[in-house]
Amino acid sequence: MTTIADNLQRIALRIRVAATDAGRSPDDVRLLAVSKTFDADAVRDAFAAGQRQFGENYVQEGVEKITLLHDLPLTWHMIGPLQANKTRAVAEHFQWVHSVDRERIARRLSEQRPADLPPLQVCIQVNVDGGPSKSGVAPADAPALARLVAGLPQLQLRGLMSIPEPSEDPAMQRAVHDQARALFDDIGRQLRAAGAAGAEAWDTLSLGMSADLEPAIAAGSTMVRVGTAIFGRRDKPISPAPTAA
Ligand SMILES: *Cc1c(COP(=O)(O)O)cnc(C)c1O
Repeated sequence: MTTIADNLQRIALRIRVAATDAGRSPDDVRLLAVSKTFDADAVRDAFAAGQRQFGENYVQEGVEKITLLHDLPLTWHMIGPLQANKTRAVAEHFQWVHSVDRERIARRLSEQRPADLPPLQVCIQVNVDGGPSKSGVAPADAPALARLVAGLPQLQLRGLMSIPEPSEDPAMQRAVHDQARALFDDIGRQLRAAGAAGAEAWDTLSLGMSADLEPAIAAGSTMVRVGTAIFGRRDKPISPAPTAA
C-alpha cells in the first residue's frame, strides 16, 4: 500500500472517531484531499485508494492538474484566494469554489460559468476570528453575500468556509469553529425564512484541516480539507532545487 493510501485510511479513522465522539454520523463529514504543490501522480495514488474530491489553492496549478487528470472522475474544489483576473479559469474548470468573499468575484464567476456546465457550487469564505492574514468576508457581511450568491443564475450556494488563525490550543480552535457553525445556522435560517432560491442546498460547512479536524467535526463541519496528513509536508522548493553537492 502506498503512503498516501495509508494516510487516507488514517484520516478516515480520525473522521470516524471524531464524528462518533460528537454523536454524529461519519457519513456526514466529507473529506476533501488538498493536493496543492503535489503532482498529478500523487492525485492518481489517492484516486486509486478511493478518494474523489480534491482541493487546490492556486488557479494555474489546479487547472494544469485538472487537465492532466481529465480521464478520472474527480470533483475539483478551488479553496484559495481569488483574484478577479483568474475567475474565468475557475468558472471553466472547477466544480466547487470555497473562497468567494466578495460581490465582484461572485458576479464574475456566475457570468463566466459556461452555460453547458452545471452551476458552480459555492461556499462563502468568512473570516470569523478577524485574522489579518486571511481573506474572507466579515461575519456581519456574510448574510448579504449569501443572499446575493443565492440569486445568481450560474452559482449554487452551498455554505460557508472558514480558516481560523493557527492555534495549538484545541479549546481555542473549537471556539472559533463554534462561531462559524453559529453563523452557518443563522444564515441557513435567514435563507429559509426569506424563501431564498436554493435555500435547501445550504448544507456545507467547510471547516477543519490536518491539525484541527477533530474540533472542526465536533463543531459541525461537513467537509474537512486535509493536505499535509495525506500527501506529506509541503516543504519542496518552488524554484529549481539547488544541485546536490
Ligand atoms: C492548504 C490548505 C488546507 C490544507 O491544510 P493542511 O494543514 O495541509 O491539512 C486546507 N484549507 C485551505 C484553505 C488550505 O489553503
